[in-house]
Amino acid sequence: MPSKAGRNRSDYKKSNRGQVLRLIATGECWNRTQLTNAMGLTKMAISRIVAEMLEAGLVIEQETGPTDEPGRTPITLAISPSAPRVVGIVIQREYCEGVLCDLQMNILKKETIYYGEGLDDQQLVNHMFRILDTILYGEDNVAAIGASSIGPVSSSTGMILKPSYFFGISNVPVVKLLQERYQLPVYLDHDNQCAAICEFMYGNGRGFRDILLVGVGSGIGCGIISNGKRYRNERGLPPEIGHVSIDINGRQCYCGGRGCLETYARTPEVLKKLQYHTGKLLSFKTYCKMEGEPAVECILKDMVTQLAAAVVSVVNILNSELIVLGGDAVDWDERYVELMERIINERRFVEWGTPVIVRKAMYQQDAMVLGAASNACLQIFEGKLLFDD
Ligand SMILES: [Zn+2]
Repeated sequence: MPSKAGRNRSDYKKSNRGQVLRLIATGECWNRTQLTNAMGLTKMAISRIVAEMLEAGLVIEQETGPTDEPGRTPITLAISPSAPRVVGIVIQREYCEGVLCDLQMNILKKETIYYGEGLDDQQLVNHMFRILDTILYGEDNVAAIGASSIGPVSSSTGMILKPSYFFGISNVPVVKLLQERYQLPVYLDHDNQCAAICEFMYGNGRGFRDILLVGVGSGIGCGIISNGKRYRNERGLPPEIGHVSIDINGRQCYCGGRGCLETYARTPEVLKKLQYHTGKLLSFKTYCKMEGEPAVECILKDMVTQLAAAVVSVVNILNSELIVLGGDAVDWDERYVELMERIINERRFVEWGTPVIVRKAMYQQDAMVLGAASNACLQIFEGKLLFDD
């Protein structure tokens, strides 16, 4: 079923309120003048919205903080401590993690469970319940739960489909299970897609409209923000950069393709090579910081070149202006980030006057779980929650 295209007056009203809340929560605006400029609404309309939010306990006025109007008492707007909170939960291949956050993405509680040796569908669900039971204990002001998972997932059906290298777990109806247990709105999306939302709204993607986030770990995934919006197709399926081929005659991939990026550049593959060639059993992070080891540098440069090849293909389709590196790539030494940026800019097709920028995720390893929470916040900022008629 295609999404409903029509929007009525009430939708616009909610959407405007959501956007005002977002501008305050993400720190982009802290007074009515800035909100008026950013929203393109009248001063009176902004004053009315802000008054409603003060009344509802969503925002507060503070007497301190930055001001761009010298001579005036600097009254700034901020998110109220009594504003609703959101929960994020992320399912990764080795662990499951949950957070309770405020609307500014400050972590108030965090719980992590490592799976250990084995896992089946029911155990995974039990781990999620244990984490959320702990996080939600005593919390009566939670607006929504955002869940994110290794792919593939379907955000429209709320299911984790059949992730590779994941104990054979498949078709877990996460949204249904969590909604039934916690009686809260639940939103599911791909882990990297959520991380992209988080970096776009709160992190190193602020100020950019076209972002590609690449998450490198035991798999390789991506998240896309295109023209300020999350990329998502009608079936709710995320983009999968890990299966972009970088060699048509290359290694056979389990997906049926050949030469898929993931088969070369996922962390376990690279780490295996590093350990074999150095004869040491060090961590990926340690290898990333090593200097003056030609074998290590050569393997890591190969990895960067392979990732850059796939990223260039995506940049040529989407013309992304910013690449955010997530997952294990947050451990890269800066010289590898610079190498990737150089390769992308040498090889991309369309020139639009400014170079493509490559940065690490601001929230580093927390980008995934905060991404899940950000996805819940996004529903609020899009006016789908909190704002009644
Ligand atoms: Zn593949």
